[in-house]
Amino acid sequence: MTEYLTHGHDVLVIGAGGAGLRAAAEASAAGARVAVISKSLLGKAHTVMAEGGIAAALANVDERDSWRVHFADTMRGGQYLNSWRMAELHAKEAPACVRELEAWGAVFDRTPDGRILQRNFGGHRYPRLAHVGDRTGLEMIRTLQDHDIHLGMDVFMEYTVVTLLKDGARIAGAFGYDRERGRFHVFRAKAVVLATGGIGRAYKITSNSWEYTGDGHSLAYHAGAALMDMEFVQFHPTGMIWPPSVRGILVTEGVRGEGGVLRNKDGRRFMFDDIPAAYANQTADTDEEGWRYTQGDKNARRPPELLTRDHVARCIRREVKEGRGSPHGGVFLDIAWIKERIPNAAEHIKRKLPSMYHQFKQLADIDITQEPMEVGPTTHYMMGGVRVDPDSQMSDVPGLFAAGECGAGLHGANRLGGNSLSDLLVFGRRAGQYAALYANENSLGAVNPDEVALAEKHALAPFERDNGEGPYAVQYALQDMMQDLVGIVRQEKEMSQALDLIQQLKVRAERVGVTGNREYNPGWHTAIDLNNLLTVSEMVAKAALERQESRGAHFRDDYPSKDNNFGSFNIVIRKNPRGEMQIMREPIPPMPLELKQIIEEMK
Ligand SMILES: Cc1cc2nc3c(=O)[nH]c(=O)nc-3n(C[C@H](O)[C@H](O)[C@H](O)COP(=O)(O)OP(=O)(O)OC[C@H]3O[C@@H](n4cnc5c(N)ncnc54)[C@H](O)[C@@H]3O)c2cc1C
Repeated sequence: MTEYLTHGHDVLVIGAGGAGLRAAAEASAAGARVAVISKSLLGKAHTVMAEGGIAAALANVDERDSWRVHFADTMRGGQYLNSWRMAELHAKEAPACVRELEAWGAVFDRTPDGRILQRNFGGHRYPRLAHVGDRTGLEMIRTLQDHDIHLGMDVFMEYTVVTLLKDGARIAGAFGYDRERGRFHVFRAKAVVLATGGIGRAYKITSNSWEYTGDGHSLAYHAGAALMDMEFVQFHPTGMIWPPSVRGILVTEGVRGEGGVLRNKDGRRFMFDDIPAAYANQTADTDEEGWRYTQGDKNARRPPELLTRDHVARCIRREVKEGRGSPHGGVFLDIAWIKERIPNAAEHIKRKLPSMYHQFKQLADIDITQEPMEVGPTTHYMMGGVRVDPDSQMSDVPGLFAAGECGAGLHGANRLGGNSLSDLLVFGRRAGQYAALYANENSLGAVNPDEVALAEKHALAPFERDNGEGPYAVQYALQDMMQDLVGIVRQEKEMSQALDLIQQLKVRAERVGVTGNREYNPGWHTAIDLNNLLTVSEMVAKAALERQESRGAHFRDDYPSKDNNFGSFNIVIRKNPRGEMQIMREPIPPMPLELKQIIEEMK
């Protein structure tokens, strides 16, 4: 076998975002020898972009909050396709995880009496998001990174994993390359935690970072793990839409949490026009009540702008489609109006939403303290991912764990804002704990040299194709196609067409060529990422075709209603022994009576 640079660890964590860093901390604290691999530099993982906050029922701002309310909110938001066990664990454990982060040095915003401040967010009944202005992800990453470094672990920055390695059925490690020099490395490990984030770069308009090419989803699929809920891609209602160069960049829900309202071109506050029945009891009747809610009045109900993201995104789309949109094809989000209500509104907005203020000032020359923003839906979050055991986070492949956005279960058909950062902490911790346990009970698996040689050959093939098409052309074609045919509103004809086009794009991807050498060669990196993007796009389109109803983030023009028959199972995908993508419907396990009662009580 060719000599590769080879590394050996108990637990290998792929990904240095919130989930990966939290998993690494736990595994290391348990005594495991840990390595963390990241495509980007340490501190630059996508989590750093998170803005609004971490959802946890600390009840610091409203004492009526509890894990029970958080559990019921998460299940309602996910339209009851969530893993109820994950939703239960998440709601119960998130407060302790936030306090732990505070103990490790995170400097949260404070209530007047010095406790962690919490803000309103869509779908959460009470103010629940612990935050640091609108830069919560940065603080999370900074804190976890400091903590991890002191625990001691090996960090491989700017390394990309291209395949997982197996010994029979179980995991044996991973194979990848360093982006700086283009050298290949074998990472042997007793347990592997996937924490690779989402898939947003499969779409043209997205809030997601360049890292989001669905690597973990694709690595797990090819290693034989089952994936679940791949039809549920969240389109956040408020991304920037103008100028074109910034299209898709997120405008945090925190703007609406602080009193921002949505208006169409006629100045009408259209969100009052359509309130879903499941939220009617919890939604304000008037502008006045909605405003009071954002200012902490416990007797007021939340404004319709804080309904779940799927619903708000569809309302915006309706306004645009029916000719009431803003000049660049979105609607207006107005926080400047609060100057009618509070003194020093401009200073207040700058203090509460510093990143939003700078983002619009610098990128669009808009002063959000004085004028409305133009916004529209943007691909934001992947609810679907690797199916895991709710308690341990282990996938179907022994020794392979998954946590964070590349895992599935917690969010069901739609994620509530803030529930991702808490997901990273709760299930990152669990994945690290159980991966260390697994490593303790198992030895290193053997690495198959043929498997490694094949992966290397495939990775280097684009250099052999002198006249091959450039990888970016294929990537852009895929992104345009997913945006148009498997986007926010779907139908059978278009998705079938998408699946045909994906097959054609796969053929093109196998023929792409790159020039130059292996040192920091972005064309080469893109050629490799393409395989992952195509695999996840196919999974999304197939699962979306299978779900013949509209639920949560998945909306079908040809099946516009929710169908109870589709509420009893998750759509699961795996590679069958013939190497084909197989779709299955897997029944949701029955929910224990006490959890059912909580949901009933909270209706
Ligand atoms: C603008 C924005 C704002 C957001 N705000 C909030 C918020 O306020 N609250 C909230 O709850 N959620 C928020 N989210 C969502 C949340 O930030 C993400 O879901 C979450 O950070 C994902 O964390 P993760 O640890 O799963 O993955 P990431 O933080 O994305 O980390 C993935 C890691 O995997 C690495 N990686 C990927 N592929 C490979 C590979 N092949 N080889 C090696 N390494 C690899 C990457 O380099 C990276 O280190 C926001 C998202 C965006 C885009």
